[in-house]
Amino acid sequence: MYESEVIQEWLKKASNGNHNAAKPPPTPSPLRFSKFFQSNMRILVTGGAGFIGSHLVDKLMENEKNEVIVADNYFTGSKDNLKKWIGHPRFELIRHDVTEPLLIEVDQIYHLACPASPIFYKYNPVKTIKTNVIGTLNMLGLAKRVGARILLTSTSEVYGDPLVHPQVESYWGNVNPIDSAQCSIPIPVFFMVFWVRSCYDEGKRVAETLMFDYHRQHGIEIRIARIFNTYGPRMNIDDGRVVSNFIAQAVR
Ligand code: NAD
Ligand code: UDP
Repeated sequence: MYESEVIQEWLKKASNGNHNAAKPPPTPSPLRFSKFFQSNMRILVTGGAGFIGSHLVDKLMENEKNEVIVADNYFTGSKDNLKKWIGHPRFELIRHDVTEPLLIEVDQIYHLACPASPIFYKYNPVKTIKTNVIGTLNMLGLAKRVGARILLTSTSEVYGDPLVHPQVESYWGNVNPIDSAQCSIPIPVFFMVFWVRSCYDEGKRVAETLMFDYHRQHGIEIRIARIFNTYGPRMNIDDGRVVSNFIAQAVR
């Protein structure tokens, strides 16, 4: 089909209110089929040194057809979580901040990079927003260039302070972008850092928007998982969330 026909088709679908991508996914990069090709599936996990990411890596590495590349800046993650894979021929670990472009050839991207605990994502709210917005943009640019499928780990926090219980996917949420409601009395900026959470909530909302726009505009195959509070081995004991707080207090 010529490009003009594709555009006509897209306009027809758009005018019928059909929000599905009209473009087929981009074709994989030719480098993907180089003679050094060894695995069937090359998978990038951003944030793979973290709590959930390292468990995902364990699962992906179980499949001998997979080659796994982790990109992480170790802000909240640790090489320790991946120590059993370091040196493995199907595993590669890169110190990389997702707010910078990344040029590699992969088939799938699991984009987890972002601090999940309020203590850490409030520590530098501007960096948290950058990680979610610029980081997701970069991973989508990568997915577009190489024709990879991409999954974003979003969060239940996209519902903000929800007015609907339990939250269904069709609910748009109730997020305060500036957290001003809680700011009826003047407080020093230093203390604000401890409770402002919109950097995370709004960051993930923009990340979801980017995912759907790249899907509709460029035909990228996407997945979004809105994860709710998760706990388990390798979680930081001082993570600051309800389950770890209760357990840590009980142990102490
Ligand atoms: P985590 O903090 O343990 O892991 C996040 C990883 O991302 C860490 O290894 C960290 O070093 C890395 N990272 C952070 N900023 C980065 C950057 N700019 N560039 C590269 N790497 C960076 O958190 P987690 O609990 O494993 O969460 C993983 C994902 O799941 C996050 O996207 C989070 O928002 C989402 N999520 C988690 C929960 C939960 O309950 N744990 C709930 C909802 C959503
Ligand atoms: N990008 C990347 N790796 C790639 C391709 C793109 O990190 O393999 C980044 C690129 O630097 C850009 C972003 O992804 O900042 C969005 O790329 P896209 O091609 O969609 O947009 P453009 O570069 O045209 O603004």
